[in-house]
Amino acid sequence: MADEVICESCGKPHAGAAIELAFKLPDDVFALPEQDRQSRCRISSDIVVLDDERFFIRGLVPLKVAKRNQDYALGVWAEVSEDVFGRIYDLWDDPDQSEAPRLPGTLANALPFHESTVGLTVAIQLIGTTSRPEFFLDPVEHSLFAEQSRGIDEHRAYEYSDRASRKSAAQQGREAQR
Ligand SMILES: [Zn+2]
Repeated sequence: MADEVICESCGKPHAGAAIELAFKLPDDVFALPEQDRQSRCRISSDIVVLDDERFFIRGLVPLKVAKRNQDYALGVWAEVSEDVFGRIYDLWDDPDQSEAPRLPGTLANALPFHESTVGLTVAIQLIGTTSRPEFFLDPVEHSLFAEQSRGIDEHRAYEYSDRASRKSAAQQGREAQR
């Protein structure tokens, strides 16, 4: 692998450009038996509707990384109300969607290395017709909010990606490559 850097936290070399951690489905949907997933859900790569009453959209939680130009983007799902879902649907193909006010949602995946992140409230920022929305945590006493407000170091980026690599290699399905 190219771009190995010696980590200042643990002294080991970490690959620079690795897979980013991403979840293929909201946790509650992943937990369903395969048969229920098929009969009760409408699933696309960016949207899941469960029982016509729970609405999820896929997005990114951007985290600044010390000394990197680019954010580390955690690929996660947010649950939204039917109204918000309708609003996002209306804006889906709108080239000016990034000017719309941020919309409320709650995280629908439990991220590793944190107390449960499911249910944390976020503001959803639409980015553009070919980009996933970005989720910004509302201020709360939680380590993920701290990571998003202060940024993370290379070691934590490595830990997220290492988890993603292992899951992807094991083909466990829950967390998958974007
Ligand atoms: Zn390290």
